[in-house]
Amino acid sequence: MLKKREISAVELTKSIYDRIDRVENEINAFVTMNKEEALVAAEVANQRYKDGTAGPLTGIPLGIKDVICTKGLRTTCSSKILGNYIPPYDAMVMTKLREAGAVIVGKTNMDEFAMGSSTEPVWTGPTHNPWSLEHISGGSSGGSAAAVAADECLGALGSDTGGSIRQPAAHCGVAGLKPTYGRVSRYGLVAYGSSLDQIGPITKDVTDLAIIMNSISGYDPQDSTSVPREVPDYTAALTHGLKGIKIGLPKEYFISGIDPEVVTAVKNGVTELEKLGAEVLDVSLPHTEYVVAVYYVIAPAEASSNLARYDGVKYGFREKSPANLMDMYYQTRTNGFGPEVIRRIIMGTYVLSAGYYDAYYRKASQVRTLIRQDFEEAFKVCDVLVTPVAPTPAFKIGQMTDDPLQMYLSDIFTLSANMAGIPGMSVPCGFSSAGLPIGMQLMAGHFKEETLLKVGFNFESATGFHKQKPTREPSLRIPTKRSMLHEE
Ligand code: GLN
Repeated sequence: MLKKREISAVELTKSIYDRIDRVENEINAFVTMNKEEALVAAEVANQRYKDGTAGPLTGIPLGIKDVICTKGLRTTCSSKILGNYIPPYDAMVMTKLREAGAVIVGKTNMDEFAMGSSTEPVWTGPTHNPWSLEHISGGSSGGSAAAVAADECLGALGSDTGGSIRQPAAHCGVAGLKPTYGRVSRYGLVAYGSSLDQIGPITKDVTDLAIIMNSISGYDPQDSTSVPREVPDYTAALTHGLKGIKIGLPKEYFISGIDPEVVTAVKNGVTELEKLGAEVLDVSLPHTEYVVAVYYVIAPAEASSNLARYDGVKYGFREKSPANLMDMYYQTRTNGFGPEVIRRIIMGTYVLSAGYYDAYYRKASQVRTLIRQDFEEAFKVCDVLVTPVAPTPAFKIGQMTDDPLQMYLSDIFTLSANMAGIPGMSVPCGFSSAGLPIGMQLMAGHFKEETLLKVGFNFESATGFHKQKPTREPSLRIPTKRSMLHEE
């Protein structure tokens, strides 16, 4: 419509804020709005349409997870400790999106410092699932996924350290892609687990994933782990037909304990892929049983190191009247971080400490290699692995907050892609009897995003699950628990 001038970028942006005014009070997808700047960007976009210099993202309103630094726009990671932090620079993905002419709607809510699977941060309050407000939106990029599902933006960026793009996308009935480690620059992404973190898109369909990937991918000398490798036109991969594609079903991912409705939806999805021409075979990823344990050593270890910088000295929250310097650090970190982040810092410090390093961190790193080798073996016989994204549809808000181990176990199917560095994608593949979306995970070898996009595109074209929209009955309305952020 923008291209045909049936709508202007300013009208589109205004319509998005109208929508936000109507639904945001019940969803709580955003931490910070960017309306003034967005309208200016929309004006510029209008001009680019007039000049004929508009690209596919020009004038498109996007939400940005609040873990990605935005110059001049507060970036909190949904944490009190960064509550007043305004970055003096843009993340590389922001530089690229702004050049493309995207309109930045606001910063989306997340689990504090991306640690979690439900977007229930203490400081900014939970993001509600647009399909059912008493359920979680998934996490940690729950704000991004919910905002896309609730039409509060047309697409969003998330980050994924162990599933944080794919799992909320699955729970909110939208598409999400975690690219290969090194595909998208991490410059300006607030670090959680640096060897696992990757930025990626959350969108309404697979075509939109490809469009955003075209814009944000590529080598960046400011991120030493980014890979100097040409960026293909990802939209060129969106062609019909799956003849010649081999789909592997890892037997360790279809075990008892998974919600039978999830298994049925994913298996039906596999049947659909077979009908489209793909060949399906059984494979094995034998070290799957160690995935959760290994991840929850490595990720907290890296986090404990990365989060040492939040000490109240140079930026962020500082406790007001400490007795001395040590007390300033102590009070600031104790009161600035929420309980899950503190738990991770303590776990990470423990597994790295003298005497325990060999038993935990070194051992976990060794098993991580075995997990990566499992994938290398599997991709010798198949192109794509298909699995559930999460063992259950979205659970209820508050249901797991007192049971961190249960929460960690819900990440069982998504953690391994990060440890292997491979790309993973989530596409909607059905609904539970309660009407909650279910996602199907596709994983491929390093830098095989095009294969994922092709398979996902064919799948959604054939099934149409992505076209279904959440319609909320008025009786379901429960006002968002006002977060501490809004009380301050
Ligand atoms: N749920 C996982 C964790 O808490 C993954 C989060 C993420 O991908 N950022 O660490």
